[in-house]
Order: sequence, then structure tokens, then C-alpha cells
Amino acid sequence: MGAMIYSTPDSRFTSQLPKIETIRIHPLTIALKNPFIISKGAHASADLLYLEVRLSNGVIGWGEAAPSPPFNGETQASGHKALRRLIPRLVGKSLESPSLLSEKLKRLLPGPASARTGLEMALWDSWMRTYKIPLREFFGGGRLRVRTDMTVSMVPLEKIEETVEWILSLGIRTLKVKIGRNVEEDLERIRLVQKKAPGLPYYIDANEGYSLAEAKKLIAKLKKLKARPLFFEQPLSRSNWKGMKELSRICPFPIAADESISSLEDVWHLLEKKYAQIVNVKLMKLGLLDSWRTIQLCRRAGVSCMIGAMVESRLATTCAAHLASGTWPTAAIDLDTSFFLSREPLQGPEIQKGGTFDLSSIQSGIGITPVI
Ligand SMILES: [Mg+2]
Repeated sequence: MGAMIYSTPDSRFTSQLPKIETIRIHPLTIALKNPFIISKGAHASADLLYLEVRLSNGVIGWGEAAPSPPFNGETQASGHKALRRLIPRLVGKSLESPSLLSEKLKRLLPGPASARTGLEMALWDSWMRTYKIPLREFFGGGRLRVRTDMTVSMVPLEKIEETVEWILSLGIRTLKVKIGRNVEEDLERIRLVQKKAPGLPYYIDANEGYSLAEAKKLIAKLKKLKARPLFFEQPLSRSNWKGMKELSRICPFPIAADESISSLEDVWHLLEKKYAQIVNVKLMKLGLLDSWRTIQLCRRAGVSCMIGAMVESRLATTCAAHLASGTWPTAAIDLDTSFFLSREPLQGPEIQKGGTFDLSSIQSGIGITPVI
């Protein structure tokens, strides 16, 4: 008997491609338990858009757009408007493979990035659900559980200790401290956090709040106090890469770029100029495909990545947790915003004690479904 040359093709991949039947936008505003404050402004609510993609095979995929006005000026309204214009160009078309879909969306909707990401997420989710692939496997497999840090936002100084106490009660083991308004006040902020959580690893994020002189002053004072954050995120304005490079040379801990990175071109620029040692990868800036590409590029160039989020619900942060799972290890995982929301109309794995995303029960796609 002759050897069998061809194995039977997997029927999931040989049947006709499903078509995109409808795409619906669901605007959703969720109040925060407390305002989330950074150096440049505050969020009182998460102003989201959930995207629902229905395919001709009956599968439904979900995505989330989380615009962040203080971060890059994108809003729920601008995202909604851009998506309403784009959707008729996709309905009735075949569901292409994820990377082709992502490239097409980048061509059709160059901005705003968060709206494009929400749609990309929903289309990818519908593809993964069609072919029964958990998203983490598409990103390279990896660990089933990933653990987030948690942010101490710029609450008044007298509220810091109680905030840190609450975070510790949740079992969180890494902190992120928002700074960037005033060096002396920020040093006090860091001191209070350390007092309440001695020995706990932490990093600092100025969200572009400092001048070069202020950032140098903070670094010098931290050195003197023998305070050692894990790294220092976005000390200067996004385009001041020369200043960031100078800080990288004098700072005893790494400098991370967040606001400076909002496209693959920005990533190339950072790798060429080497003005930071860590990149904060966020789906709402880069999208799914380019976030994954950024991590691969940075890894080859010896630059680390952390995985962060805007003010997002568990649909988007679980999507980012799949990315973290598939591309482990990362410099940090900062996917804590679910803890700040007053409610989440979502079905699917909750975030566990200690800030752990447990992806083990997710059999296909992102694994989170809105109930709206
Ligand atoms: Mg940041």
C-alpha cells in the first residue's frame, strides 16, 4: 500500500469564507469609581464604543474602542463618526485573514486609531471564533495567566496612603505611580507610596509633564534618596526625543516611551535613535497587528516592551492580555482599568485576585462578550 502523501485538509479552512453581514456600533459610557488623573487631565468616565460584527456563518465578534481625550485628543464622538463612514465599505465583503483585514483598515481609516482598533478587534474576534482559535495562540501561545500592575493616579497627597492600601488589599504586586506636575510634590508622592508599600516594585509615569531640567532634577533627587523605580515612563513631551536620549544616558533606571509611540514609523524612529529602552505598547494607539509587530521588532533590536491600556473595559484589556500571553516576557503589564470602572456589562472570565487574567478557559477569540 502506498504511503499517504496528503493529509486531509482541515475543513474549517477549506469551506467558503464567511461574509461580513452587519457591523453595529454600541456607544457606552461607564462612570469611574473615582476620577483617573494624569498630569495632563482627568477621566471621569470610560467613553467607549463596542463594535459588533455579525458574519454569514452566524458567528458574532466583539471589539472595543477606548478613545482617550487627554492622551491624544480622540473622542467617542470622533470615533463614532469615522466608523459610521467606514462600515458601509466593509459590509457584504468576505472575511479576510486577520493581517489582511488590519492592513485594509489602516488604509481606509488612518485615524482615529482607537476606533480603528475597536473594529480590528471585532473582526479578528469573529475570525478567531470562526476557526476556533484562542487569540493568545494566534499571538504565539505562551502563558495562560498574566498579571497586571496597578496605577496610583494623581490623587491628592492625603489620599495616597488609602489608595495604596486598597491596591494592596487586591493582592497587586507592582505599582505604577503617576507624576509630572511638580517635582517636589511628585517626590512626596513617591515617598508616600514607598512608605505604605515598602519594597514593592514600582515605576513612574510623567505623561509628558516635565521639562528636561525638571526631569533631571527628579532623577538626581531620586538617586540621592536611593529610590529606584523599575523605569521612568514618558518624562518629556512626545517629540522631545533628544531630551529623552539625554535622560537615558544619565538615568540609573530605563526610560520608557509611551506618548512618543503611536505608529510603526514611531517605533522605527525609536529603534534608530535609541532614545528609550522600553516601549509602552497599547492596542488603542497601534492596533492589534502593529502592536504584535512592534514587540517583534523591539525584541530583535534589544528594546523591551510593556503592555499598557487607555481607560478600557475588560473586553479590550483581555485582548491585550492575550497579546501579553503570546509575547511573554514583557517589562510590565499595565491592564488595570477594569478595577476603576463602576460596572462592566460583560460575560467571560473576570480578573482574579492579585490582578490575574486567567485565559485558560478561553477556547476561541478574545473570550469576552458584551451583554447589551
Ligand atoms: Mg503612560
